[in-house]
Amino acid sequence: MLYKTDALVLRTADYGENDKIVTLFSLQYGKLSAALKGVKKAGAKLKFAAQPFCFAEYVLARKGEHNTVTGAALTDGFYPLREDIGKFYAAASLTGLCDALLYDGIVNEELFLRAVSGLREMCEGAEEEALACFFLKALDLSGYRLSLESCGGCGASLAGRVGFDLRRGCFFCGECGQGAGVSEGTLQFLRKCAGMPFDGRFLRADSAKRALKLLRAYLSAETDVRVKALDEYIALL
Ligand SMILES: [Zn+2]
Repeated sequence: MLYKTDALVLRTADYGENDKIVTLFSLQYGKLSAALKGVKKAGAKLKFAAQPFCFAEYVLARKGEHNTVTGAALTDGFYPLREDIGKFYAAASLTGLCDALLYDGIVNEELFLRAVSGLREMCEGAEEEALACFFLKALDLSGYRLSLESCGGCGASLAGRVGFDLRRGCFFCGECGQGAGVSEGTLQFLRKCAGMPFDGRFLRADSAKRALKLLRAYLSAETDVRVKALDEYIALL
């Protein structure tokens, strides 16, 4: 059976002498794996379709459990992401998060569209902010919403110096005084990335790094997931 799907390459692996296996995040079918035959040979027509971050309409042939890519029409190769090491690792963190949070065959159209727009934003502007925005949305869509509004103890609005309790996965106000201290800049940066009102006066040069570290710790506490590219990216910041 032949079928078409819009998909984004999350991961690639060599297979045999000339082939590759790609993990695709498809709009219509969710996450799936497919083989690309002969793409490691010089001049192979589908070489582009086995590159990281490739967004294309893939034509797949399905036989039993196995998919083979028989054609692809490029939508966006997101080339600027391959020319800058920071952008590359931020983008690899985004695709790594998708790979880690998605189960095979579960359709998640909103996450797919967010992933594509996140990569586009990384090409054009500040990749750390685009990554944090995507990270928060991906947590939300995967059932791990992080509340940035109110204290997990007394319900007061969060302001000033707050604490974050990893075990309970929530912020606490200064009055309740629980969790590890979180700087004001980190909280305001996260609020900005979540599309909430925020106070820009508190943002610092290291707010993005601190916010991404907090999200990474939260993700691994909630899910045991570790995204290697995210460690690399945070180390670069
Ligand atoms: Zn409180």
